[in-house]
Amino acid sequence: MLKITDPQELLKLALSNHQDSECATCNILMHPGWESVPGSFDLTTLKLIGTLKTEDHSEVWDEYHPNGTHSWSADAPIAIGFHPYNRCDIYQCIHCARKYLRYGEYGGYYVDERIRPLNGKLIAIP
Ligand SMILES: [Zn+2]
Repeated sequence: MLKITDPQELLKLALSNHQDSECATCNILMHPGWESVPGSFDLTTLKLIGTLKTEDHSEVWDEYHPNGTHSWSADAPIAIGFHPYNRCDIYQCIHCARKYLRYGEYGGYYVDERIRPLNGKLIAIP
């Protein structure tokens, strides 16, 4: 599994992404910002390929929004080392190979699986 800590590496991965492909499996996930995975979606169609988690950043709750976005914004930067990217794994659709970031938000009694397409244009390069 890929362990990605460098935005350039993530960018390389994002550029191998078929951002515009039509895919019956995962088009439902193609919202630019974070969304909860729809209950009807079959998570086994996503394959784990890598992670952005690092031990030093697991307790970081700071978010990165230099341009006034917020965590749900469609154009919020994808910032390695900041919340929630420090808890994300990288998945790819087994049919079209499109890549997604995903993490579990722990609520009271269940885990809300949140997903966002890996869009190279939004990766924050320090
Ligand atoms: Zn797909």
